[in-house]
Amino acid sequence: MNAVTNTVWEDIIGQFRVNHPQLVRGWFCDLKPEQLNGGIIRIQAANHAQVRYLEQHCRLALTEAAQASTGRLVSVAFDVDETKADSNGRSPGAPASGQDELSLNPDFTFDNFVTGPCNRLAHAAGVAIAEDPGHAYNPFFVHGCVGLGKTHLLQAICQALQKRTPETRCYYISCETFINHFIEAVECGALHQFRYRYRHVDILVIDDIQFLAERERSQEEFFHTFNTLHQSHRQIILSADCPPSEIPSLEERLTSRFNSGLVALMDRPCLETRMAIVRKKAKLRCITVPEDVVHLIASRIDTNIRDLEGALTRIDALSHAHGGQLTLELAETALGGNSRRIVKIPVILETVADRFNVKVSELQGKKRSKTITYPRHVSMYLARQLTSQSLEEIGNYFGGRDHTTVLHASRAITRLLETDSDANELIQEMTREIRNATH
Ligand code: ADP
Ligand code: MG
Repeated sequence: MNAVTNTVWEDIIGQFRVNHPQLVRGWFCDLKPEQLNGGIIRIQAANHAQVRYLEQHCRLALTEAAQASTGRLVSVAFDVDETKADSNGRSPGAPASGQDELSLNPDFTFDNFVTGPCNRLAHAAGVAIAEDPGHAYNPFFVHGCVGLGKTHLLQAICQALQKRTPETRCYYISCETFINHFIEAVECGALHQFRYRYRHVDILVIDDIQFLAERERSQEEFFHTFNTLHQSHRQIILSADCPPSEIPSLEERLTSRFNSGLVALMDRPCLETRMAIVRKKAKLRCITVPEDVVHLIASRIDTNIRDLEGALTRIDALSHAHGGQLTLELAETALGGNSRRIVKIPVILETVADRFNVKVSELQGKKRSKTITYPRHVSMYLARQLTSQSLEEIGNYFGGRDHTTVLHASRAITRLLETDSDANELIQEMTREIRNATH
């Protein structure tokens, strides 16, 4: 058995960084190579989530780097560093029970979660729950469009909880897994085991619960699971791409239960938050990004955070191909294909004001007569549909109105459009007009 010297280890990691920069994470500096034994270099990580990340994404690349550095046909293996793991050997991210839980992503922690007006409430509630599950907000329901951090927040709660109280039985799964488990249990006559599995946890976290839509029997089963857990003050955390009342054909009794705790929206982030996220992601991935490039990425990509990360990856890859220098010019090139016409809210306001024969200042003002509120709601709806601005940012164009006002206005118009064909035609015409006026 040989110790792996620091020099060899630094060489392995150095090669890995050069060849696979996109896989590098900030916590790599805490990895410990234990020994070289029987041709295997054992590497210790701080927790199961990190071990899983290494297994899934880095095994091959690290093996290649280790072989190149040692000049021997070695391979790598990963373990949890028991001196850092929790007392019962289960560290953050380890499943509470069963085999096929979604694994927790080691990047999805509170430390790596950037807060802003778009997600402050959801984040604060998440932190409170991690400190005192089952009491603060139960159930906790987060909703928002794709790529806005729901999964990140849910997993951050789980990881914080398991770090604080490792004995907590935390079960994190996707709604699809819940449904599949249920179907399997029915087919194999194993409902008893299924119920035991779901009803004997301290915290049940189900991601993308909107998939319960149209699933009558799964809804029925989930209703009983929910009641059992809730009655004994065990924490339930759910996420979806829309609020409970908008999940298609969700039973009323489930909607009302989901609404009985805290329902928090995760909105699109504003520019400052996007910039903070780019900085955070860059740090996590050990990429040095100049401020002008941070600003460029954040102002150009305003759809969702997943796209923001994609842009950072593209820029990083291009900079490696150009010798590692990350300049504004290079970033412009990397994002080049992404330039698109961006609809601006003032154009929407002018178009609507023109059409309804009102003043832009009236749309932005406080007057509540019907002749003004309808066009104002239409403007908010169009701003929501045609721009990527957050509810908060849209509200700012309307005299600093609250984000819920924008949300309600835009929902009211969505509902109207379902039944009113004249209104539909009008909105379509205005949409064309706005797009044509956008260069
Ligand atoms: P969703 O589940 O809402 O579709 P995810 O949680 O998968 O979105 O987030 C998509 C990506 O954006 C992830 O890589 C996540 O880390 C990142 N992300 C989202 N919100 C934040 C945030 N507030 N701070 C840092 N990263 C974020
Ligand atoms: Mg998700």
